[in-house]
Amino acid sequence: MSRSDDRTVSPSVNRAIAIFGGTFDPVHYGHLRAAAEVSERLGVTDFRLLPAGVPPHRDATWAEPRHRLAMLELALAPYADLSVDDREVQRAGPSYMVDTLASVRDEAGDLPVVLCLGQDAANQLDGWHRWHALLDLAHLLVMTRPESEPRYSDAVLEAFEGRWVPTPQDLMGAPAGRLCRVDVTCLAISSTDIRAQLAGGRDPRFLLPSTVLAYVRKHGLYRDAPGGG
Ligand code: ATP
Repeated sequence: MSRSDDRTVSPSVNRAIAIFGGTFDPVHYGHLRAAAEVSERLGVTDFRLLPAGVPPHRDATWAEPRHRLAMLELALAPYADLSVDDREVQRAGPSYMVDTLASVRDEAGDLPVVLCLGQDAANQLDGWHRWHALLDLAHLLVMTRPESEPRYSDAVLEAFEGRWVPTPQDLMGAPAGRLCRVDVTCLAISSTDIRAQLAGGRDPRFLLPSTVLAYVRKHGLYRDAPGGG
């Protein structure tokens, strides 16, 4: 192997914690591919997918937190560089990202912490509890999502002003407070559609890992989800 090949297979590794939050109800290849690409671009030592316990932004989730956690663990089992953070699932009461990031910040000390979120979630940021404090605790990395354009409120635009950096590597020079946008491969897969397929007796294979689908079937999840017809 030539010297330049060596460089290609040895990406820089940054001591930092990245968090990819979601309901993961259930986890699918849209989440997993985005996590893989963002993790590669960030080159961090610690990349975690963090399932929401009782999400404050949604009326209901269809699978209990323990099931969503188990499905994520199955999906990530083959990949040692991606882990599951169960702190919201273990915590009682509603899960606020600001509390979650405060506890990650305690763990991280002065290391960079990066919260990765989809464009759709970023567009609704000012609906989040104490959203202004998020940038004191972490950087935000916004992942593009199929058919989701930036639509920030004036308050969010004001809070974001002057914080954008061009590349994910630029997030590594400070513990928190910067913003970066990363394009990820657009896989038009959603948990809503997978739940509807399952409720309708259809087979969502190839949209999510087979181990996760086997778990869904074993536990009879999503049989009563909307869209079953
Ligand atoms: P639902 O259909 O139940 O709303 P979802 O498929 O959007 O679920 P979430 O668990 O709400 O999944 O998403 C967690 C995070 O993953 C969000 O930041 C979301 O933008 C992102 N995400 C979800 N689906 C995709 C996808 N297909 N490609 C890239 N990112 C995605």
